Amino acid sequence: MHKNFRNVDKVVFGRGSYSQLDEILKEKRNDNDKFMLFIVDKYFEGKDHPAAKVPAHPEDVVMFIDVDIEEPTTDQIDYVRDTVKSTKGIPAGIIGIGGGSIMDIAKASSLMFTNEGSSQLYQGLNLVKNPGIYHVGVPTLAGTGAEVSITAVVTGPEKKLGLKCDWTPFNQIVLDPDLIKDVPRDQWFYTGMDTYIHCIESESGIYKNVFSLAYGNQSLDLCRDVFIREGCGQSEVNDEKLMVASLMGALSLTYSEVGACHALSYGLSFVFGYRHGYANCLAFNHLPEFYGDAVKEFKEMVKKHNITLPQGLAKGWTEDEITQMAEVSYKLTHMWNHAIGLDWKEKLTLEDIKDLFRRL
Ligand code: NAD
Ligand code: ZN
Repeated sequence: MHKNFRNVDKVVFGRGSYSQLDEILKEKRNDNDKFMLFIVDKYFEGKDHPAAKVPAHPEDVVMFIDVDIEEPTTDQIDYVRDTVKSTKGIPAGIIGIGGGSIMDIAKASSLMFTNEGSSQLYQGLNLVKNPGIYHVGVPTLAGTGAEVSITAVVTGPEKKLGLKCDWTPFNQIVLDPDLIKDVPRDQWFYTGMDTYIHCIESESGIYKNVFSLAYGNQSLDLCRDVFIREGCGQSEVNDEKLMVASLMGALSLTYSEVGACHALSYGLSFVFGYRHGYANCLAFNHLPEFYGDAVKEFKEMVKKHNITLPQGLAKGWTEDEITQMAEVSYKLTHMWNHAIGLDWKEKLTLEDIKDLFRRL
């Protein structure tokens, strides 16, 4: 069966485009209970940063959410919905302003305003019953591709799994490179590498195809300008390139798949709470048999940008922790199918996955 997904409805790209947001929202303001809900990364609260200029009207609700405490949870989504619904009603739209975490909170919340019960009930593919409300994504970090992906990744009591359905993608995204300037270098690198790794994994497996490769190759070309070629590093032009690379990298993997690195990364995040981009980097560094020359290139990029990745992490892990990570990873069948082939269980055992973790 070929993948058939909805895409983002509208995209605006360009420096300063965030100032158009108020105008964009205008035609939607009379929907539902006639107010907008802005979900903003707490990092920007009170800061002199372009993203802090939230175009809220007096009737709107602005919620600042701290994403450093934990990755988005189902409780958090339910809290946003329940608090706003009980005090103001159903918003005309939700606008998420932040990195992958905030964008996922906005995507998931938009679905929960029109679907009964806890968001835990909807973690999975096509479990959501009713279309969500209008939602807009404004990324302030580039790399996860959450701005265009069809999933809103959240962690519930039982699992870390996305709410995935035709209504998950944003109705509108605003890609303003001004919003990602001056991101601390480590964060810039880890989130940016998520895109590089999406593309390498997407092209290294059985689900690759002309459509996924076209997006992936273009994204990789942009990533190389940003991270390795002459003129690389954080700059105005490279911020623009990274924003587009993030979008194209996500489209590449959506129509192909991620692989071994993401499978290990999910284990690392689940057991130790490591952030997605960072966990990817920890794993990718040690997977030469899967990703060959790309691992060499990755190491060069790490060196070039003076990033320090810890070595010998596994020495501090218990056997139980390694087993738990391997079990999370082993369950990601679709990723191993792609990376190794449909007969992967004949080639890779739980013990082999534990050995991959022991390298870290
Ligand atoms: P993030 O949103 O978790 O933010 C990381 C840190 O950067 C936070 O401290 C945040 O406050 C800070 N930050 C955000 N914008 C900033 C700016 N402009 N300047 C300085 N600091 C800034 O990071 P992320 O890497 O973008 O997202 C990771 C999350 O995305 C994870 O929860 C992961 O599960 C999710 N994810 C989702 C998808 C998807 O398709 N939906 C894909 C990959 C990852
Ligand atoms: Zn990723």
